[in-house]
Amino acid sequence: MAIKAEHLNYVYGLGTAFEQRALKDVNLEIKDGEFVGLIGHTGSGKSTLIQHLNGLMKATDGVIYYNGRNIYETGYDLRALRSKVGLVFQYPEHQLFEINVFTDVCFGPKNQGLSKQEAEKRAKEALTMVGLDESFYSRSPFELSGGQKRRVAIAGVLAMEPDVLILDEPTAGLDPRGRDEILDQIERLHKERNMTIVLVSHSMEDIARYVDRILVMNHGEKVFDDTPKEVFKHYKELEAIGLAAPQVTYVIHSLRDHGVPIDNNITTVEEARDEILRLLGN
Ligand code: ADP
Ligand code: MG
Repeated sequence: MAIKAEHLNYVYGLGTAFEQRALKDVNLEIKDGEFVGLIGHTGSGKSTLIQHLNGLMKATDGVIYYNGRNIYETGYDLRALRSKVGLVFQYPEHQLFEINVFTDVCFGPKNQGLSKQEAEKRAKEALTMVGLDESFYSRSPFELSGGQKRRVAIAGVLAMEPDVLILDEPTAGLDPRGRDEILDQIERLHKERNMTIVLVSHSMEDIARYVDRILVMNHGEKVFDDTPKEVFKHYKELEAIGLAAPQVTYVIHSLRDHGVPIDNNITTVEEARDEILRLLGN
């Protein structure tokens, strides 16, 4: 069941001269165990949207359901919702402040009211989930690499045992190695723990091979919601809204335009390699 949004609208500065409609009649559903990518150019409404999904922001209009219950109902426990739907903000390392990695990851569960022992158990599990072993526990978060810092920040949210993990541009500002490190780690959480994941990005290239479904935002509206293959078929429309399909899509379409009978459903480099080898008779 997980999350459902109906006719979501959000206006920043409502009633002022600076009104900014950031979400326009957005409908979506995120099912248990899904890995969804949320894509859109800068300013398209991605960050605004995800902060609605865990109740951090309240819609100007529309409803959000979590496991079938309207979160705007009086008496709904929004605090509990925020630990069920874990949100990792963009540049989360800016919020690392404790003296060492372990204390930092303990902060969330302690704040949830858990005992020291229980919080430490959660922190250990969360750090293991992001692939950081005991040798990291006593290190200062500030001496780590970009990718490692971000893993600590993700562990901080995982320690609260969310059912859904939402990550806002988790690869922003990382070098290719840090980016792969983070994305592979997230993929592992999904595959091995069946965690429901919403991955926000402005790069199709980054997420194409990981996600089951892509939601595309443009100027506050959801314009596509489908499997990567279906969404990439609209590569010309995507370009028009400042997004691009993965590079390999262009190679495939160009080959087809030149009369090569290549399968145009290909969206990854690996698929392209196999198909080209097949055409070459290897
Ligand atoms: P994205 O995450 O896709 O870059 P945002 O959700 O941050 O997009 O922004 C959506 C729109 O809302 C943009 O036009 C942005 O300028 C505007 N916006 C975001 N935050 C604020 C704010 N605090 N006050 C006013 N407008 C905002
Ligand atoms: Mg954003």
